[in-house]
Amino acid sequence: MPLVSMRQVLDEAAKGGYGVGAFNVNNMEQIQAIMEAARETKSPVIVQASRGARAYAQDRYLTHLMQAAVELYPEIPVVMHLDHGNSVATCKSAIEQGFTSVMMDGSLTEDGKTPSSFEYNVKVTREIVQIAHAKGVTVEGEIGCLGGIEDGHGAGLDGLSHLTDPDQAVEFVKQTGLDALAIAIGTSHGAYKFTSKPTGETLKMNRLIEIHNKLPNVHLVMHGSSSVPKDLQDVINQYGGKLRPTWGVPVEEIQLGIKNGVRKVNVDTDNRLAITGAIRKVFAETPEKFDPRDYMKPAREAMKKVVALRMTQFGQAGHAADYQPLPLSEIAKRYN
Ligand SMILES: [Zn+2]
Repeated sequence: MPLVSMRQVLDEAAKGGYGVGAFNVNNMEQIQAIMEAARETKSPVIVQASRGARAYAQDRYLTHLMQAAVELYPEIPVVMHLDHGNSVATCKSAIEQGFTSVMMDGSLTEDGKTPSSFEYNVKVTREIVQIAHAKGVTVEGEIGCLGGIEDGHGAGLDGLSHLTDPDQAVEFVKQTGLDALAIAIGTSHGAYKFTSKPTGETLKMNRLIEIHNKLPNVHLVMHGSSSVPKDLQDVINQYGGKLRPTWGVPVEEIQLGIKNGVRKVNVDTDNRLAITGAIRKVFAETPEKFDPRDYMKPAREAMKKVVALRMTQFGQAGHAADYQPLPLSEIAKRYN
């Protein structure tokens, strides 16, 4: 099957009451790890690339790798999503390159750093909704600002300084017509999300529930939702790494979110940790090795394990064959 609409995947997830992991990729091995995990767990999946990933890998490599994935795994519905598009032009170019879903992050201005006005956010998001929906492409928007910086994107604030206002979220959805809404509830991008296990004071799940109650039919997106498990940190530090102690978003909190309208869960850091730990282990234990396959294979396997576990925890496992993905042209008609 060709790459599919994220809207359809999230609509099905809402019907089934589960969440779908959105995993970031920069190279072939990460795509392979995700696809193997999806096959093993029979999961629909969202594969996403940030601007940084597009710059690193080049769009043509990325789109051809994704085409290879859908050819090799015909039983898996796969969405190719742009993570944190900073401008209308960035989103447009992703749509032209074959992405089936884009995030227009108008919560920040085009520099990807400065918190923007509500009016600016509505304007750019609406513009992309019109362009994308005409082609059956899905749009995710963001209201409120996530903490931290990743791939040069982010205001570098702590996660609590620009929480999503629930009433503003309602207005934003109404004025933009988007498909999925990223909200700020205290999470941050990167490995250093919380300095201790998060509590209701630092991770505002109540805010998420309040937003869901006001927007029960909107697909919510949790960004910065790696769990940063201690065992993955430990492998890195055991083999010469120097990570400071850190906490991510506990899986139970994500599962609470999924019970309350969260349909897309962004995970990147956990996979980065798994890959780096596996590579460090090979380097430390067998310093005589120099064939990149000797460390890329265990790295890919380590990432696959994390992804498969998250797919099971988010509930998407077993749902790959529940529905027939529609062509984007069919999806486009539904938006009219
Ligand atoms: Zn994000």
